[in-house]
Amino acid sequence: MYDKNNVFAKILAKQIPAKIVYEDDECLAFHDINPISKIHVLVITKGEYTDFSDFVCNSNPGESERFFHSVEKVVQTLNLGKSGYRLLTNTGEDARQEVLHFHMHILGGEKLGI
Ligand code: AMP
Repeated sequence: MYDKNNVFAKILAKQIPAKIVYEDDECLAFHDINPISKIHVLVITKGEYTDFSDFVCNSNPGESERFFHSVEKVVQTLNLGKSGYRLLTNTGEDARQEVLHFHMHILGGEKLGI
């Protein structure tokens, strides 16, 4: 069940601030408040999806493809295309997903650990 009071829903509603790096009709990208790499940006959907599986199974036609293109735009905005980056999305308890609103982590800006 999607919780409309989760922290990312509040960021989308502009109830709490975020350092935004990119926005379009369907997604918002902002810096992670607790970065685990030199560059750590989150890309979240504006649609109410709890996780990757919910997004892929229940989004509108073309939405997931557009999301990945938006992630690529963020990668270019952050100038990570050449040096490289890691995409990560946690789903569920075993992955320790903290915020139950679908998001993609973009990690980079330095050599990452395994
Ligand atoms: P996950 O474990 O994949 O759900 O990751 C949630 C991420 O959201 C963590 O990396 C947190 O540091 C980040 N986070 C939590 N609250 C905020 C916030 N208010 N602004 C930016 N990032 C946040």
